[in-house]
Amino acid sequence: MSVEPCSSSPADQGDIIHPRVLPFIIVHLTCLAIFWVDVQPIDWIICGALYVIRMFGITAGFHRYFSHRSYKTSRGFQFFLAFLGQSSAQRGTLWWAAKHREHHKHSDTEEDIHSPVQHGFWYSHVLWIFSKRGRTVDYSTTIKDFQKYPELVWLDKWDRVPPILLGVLVWAIAGWSGLVVGFFVSTVLLFHGTFTINSLSHVFGKQPYVTGDSSRNNLFLAIITLGEGWHNNHHHFPSATPQGFHWWQIDITYYILKALSVFRIVWDLRLPPAHVVEGERKLSLTTIENAAQQLAASFSTEHIGKTVLKAWTHTPKLEELRNRARISQAEVEAFLKEMKILELPSITNLKDQAQKMFDHIPSLNPIVERANQIIVQAVSAWLLQSDVCETAVAV
Ligand SMILES: [Zn+2]
Ligand SMILES: [Zn+2]
Repeated sequence: MSVEPCSSSPADQGDIIHPRVLPFIIVHLTCLAIFWVDVQPIDWIICGALYVIRMFGITAGFHRYFSHRSYKTSRGFQFFLAFLGQSSAQRGTLWWAAKHREHHKHSDTEEDIHSPVQHGFWYSHVLWIFSKRGRTVDYSTTIKDFQKYPELVWLDKWDRVPPILLGVLVWAIAGWSGLVVGFFVSTVLLFHGTFTINSLSHVFGKQPYVTGDSSRNNLFLAIITLGEGWHNNHHHFPSATPQGFHWWQIDITYYILKALSVFRIVWDLRLPPAHVVEGERKLSLTTIENAAQQLAASFSTEHIGKTVLKAWTHTPKLEELRNRARISQAEVEAFLKEMKILELPSITNLKDQAQKMFDHIPSLNPIVERANQIIVQAVSAWLLQSDVCETAVAV
């Protein structure tokens, strides 16, 4: 819940310096060559096939295997998954998985580099990749478990080798039109399809589980990303191989992995336990705190504050508020409670709102009580700040 009646400071996003932004732009511009080449139906078939196959490399490889180790496989297939994922030109496997592990560790906090809640849509969707923070990763701690494979370390260092080889192969098979549509157009579609999970799946969709972040379930995103759109499920239980927890939650990546497990190409696929699917797992204190912040943020401090300020003008209440503020913050909050301000949401209001926001709420009372506390603190801070601002303006 933000309390900034006087001014607001924009997020620090002025660190986009990395020269790799140039090739990224060139890949996009190359797609315009579609107007100069003789496009054949086969080029679109290659485009679709390379989108699906490489998306599988990202979701089954980069995400569910290298980031979360949700199943096991052989060293040979591990390398194949890394190579396939990297053919999508989304940098190295180890960099990708390490950044993703950081995302789960700090979801939607200031430390989460691609949080749309913290840094806005475009930064979370793509710009973060070219920032200093986006480029930096501590390989020795974050992705230590895969550092022991020299072939993965080599591939990660020479991350452009797979996409270049794929591009040459497509050109050799299907010529210039194949290269433009089959390779470049599908690569750009793949970029943005993948990036929606960082951006849109933290903005649009339902939140059946209390995860303390803004991850959501979204059918459309699940379809274009072969199952990654069940992102709230995934944040609820990241180590599960499937991300669709119910039969109707389409998860193409999982179906393919399940088929591969029949041939023992992959094994030990991890399923979410029944109590996790039912949303009955006890929440951590951090999740309770984050969920309370989310619940509190669904009420406007500014609206409540302005209504109270209007009602209290020409009454001694603001003076009393200032007097209490000289004693302590706790006194201010006690005073607001004494005043029985109708605009402040009651515990019942908060419970109703929480039930609208989440399908499963295992720790409803602590979340609601903490949200109530946050709102009272935020409104009192807003009132005092506004009072100071108005006094300053008057002087
Ligand atoms: Zn996420
Ligand atoms: Zn993940």
